[in-house]
Amino acid sequence: MKVIVDQHKCVASGQCVLTAPEVFDQREEDGIVVLLTETPPDHLMDDTRQAAILCPAQAIWVAEQEKQEGEQ
Ligand code: SF4
Repeated sequence: MKVIVDQHKCVASGQCVLTAPEVFDQREEDGIVVLLTETPPDHLMDDTRQAAILCPAQAIWVAEQEKQEGEQ
């Protein structure tokens, strides 16, 4: 799994931070999303997908990836 956020689309609603606080944060000054990790561990995948679904601005994409040993 790889997570991508578009800070230009983000409307600072904070849904992602409430749903997956280990993956998303918000900037102090304006509340815009900050991605804490592009590649969340397995136990955070469900919350990360849920955050993408709940984001009112559709500013979060989750790209599913096959696990490959040695992948960079
Ligand atoms: S849920 Fe979407 S709009 Fe709200 S802070 Fe997160 S990325 Fe931004």
